[in-house]
Amino acid sequence: MKDLQQRLRELPQISVLLDEAEVRSLARGRRQDWVTRVVQGVVAELRDRLQTEEGPVRPRSELQAQALGMIRERCRRLLAPAWTRVINGTGVVVHTNLGRSNLSPEAAAVAAEVAACNSDLEYDLERGARGHRGRRVEAKAALLAGAEDALVVNNNAGAVWLSVRGLAAGGPVLLSRGEVVAIGGSFRMNEIIAETGSPLVEVGTTNRTGLADYERALTPGATVLKVHRSNFTVEGFTEDVDLADLARLCRDKGARLVYDAGSGALFPFAELGLPPGETQLHEDVAAGPDLVTCSGDKLLGACQAGIILGARELIAGLRNHPMRRALRVDKITLAVLDSVLTAYLAAEDLPAVPTLALLAQDEDVLQKRAEQLLGRLEPFAPEAWEGRVAPCRSSVGGGSFSTASVASRQVLWQGPKGQLEACHLNLRTGDPALVGRMNQEGLAIDVRTILPADEPLVVAAFQRAWERL
Ligand SMILES: *Cc1c(COP(=O)(O)O)cnc(C)c1O
Repeated sequence: MKDLQQRLRELPQISVLLDEAEVRSLARGRRQDWVTRVVQGVVAELRDRLQTEEGPVRPRSELQAQALGMIRERCRRLLAPAWTRVINGTGVVVHTNLGRSNLSPEAAAVAAEVAACNSDLEYDLERGARGHRGRRVEAKAALLAGAEDALVVNNNAGAVWLSVRGLAAGGPVLLSRGEVVAIGGSFRMNEIIAETGSPLVEVGTTNRTGLADYERALTPGATVLKVHRSNFTVEGFTEDVDLADLARLCRDKGARLVYDAGSGALFPFAELGLPPGETQLHEDVAAGPDLVTCSGDKLLGACQAGIILGARELIAGLRNHPMRRALRVDKITLAVLDSVLTAYLAAEDLPAVPTLALLAQDEDVLQKRAEQLLGRLEPFAPEAWEGRVAPCRSSVGGGSFSTASVASRQVLWQGPKGQLEACHLNLRTGDPALVGRMNQEGLAIDVRTILPADEPLVVAAFQRAWERL
């Protein structure tokens, strides 16, 4: 106890720290008095740490130097951007933690342009009066998916919530036990349904749900939700219903069907050698559910958004829903989505969408890219290290094609394990950061997910990481 009092007596005072030349220069000329709050936060944190600190009592001079170091570092971080550019060497094409899909230079330029100017976002230029937000973008989405109409919202989570809330309006929602799934950190289908104010009626079993199970549970006016298994597979003794069969049953019984398609493919991925597993949006719509929902930044390759597709009158109901405004997107999102959808409309072959381009690279292309990259890296590698090109598997990610993978090539480094790990840490903490994979074999960089234009940055990142070893 006495020890603790002694310790705390050495804690530097806020007023003394604020008077330090370095802190005064950090605060000088700032319109907002945030430097004082940083100093207060640092002193509070040091006090907390001292409560549990053991060993000899540290003199005030030492604690003051530590506090100044913390203040300096915090102020530096606050004045720098709150994000770091990352080069994705993980082999996961649509990596949710790394920001999912990247935009083409054309789509990125559209984002920059619309961000800096006014536009007819919600204005009818001919009538000179208020217009409909997003309607022309939504018309493009509807046409590509073969639906009567579409509504764009904040993300697919919002699209599912609004669709179920709008159609069920508090009435029962049927969902197969095998589809009461969790997606990402905090999106659980049962909780989302609870938040729409509807009771969840679980249908069938975890591994088997048949049409007869739905038939038994269906009451007129009920809503059925079917969820695409994006991020897992069930194997063995399983049964699932076909979307078209379920849509037919719902129509016969006077019930509504919402289909959460997850990724939202507008391209036949089988053509790129990907296994079956993702239907295209027009196929989902043609199967006949009342509404289909999907994400904008997974396989579609645009930005964060959710798209709801369906009949005109149902979409109109959702558009007028009181919660719609809480889920609406901004002008930048609409313009980017528009640009990407236009690329799909214009494409004669592969649309100009980076996510598709990354997936379309065949093994010959990847082998060449990996060999070239290795050749450019080798002159800088540490003595004890050995690099080679090796086959590997990339995954599509973003909750699509669940567990499926595609053949790829990696630059694989072998060397002392501690050095490999230290190098990966240096790569991750560089700017731009480079995130690869550490496995049994060594430190690997999958070339599929590295944009070809970023290869010089990869070489520079390794040079810096090796220098810091
Ligand atoms: C990814 C996914 C979601 C959530 O989509 P967000 O756009 O991330 O909100 C919902 N349902 C399924 C089936 C998904 O795959």
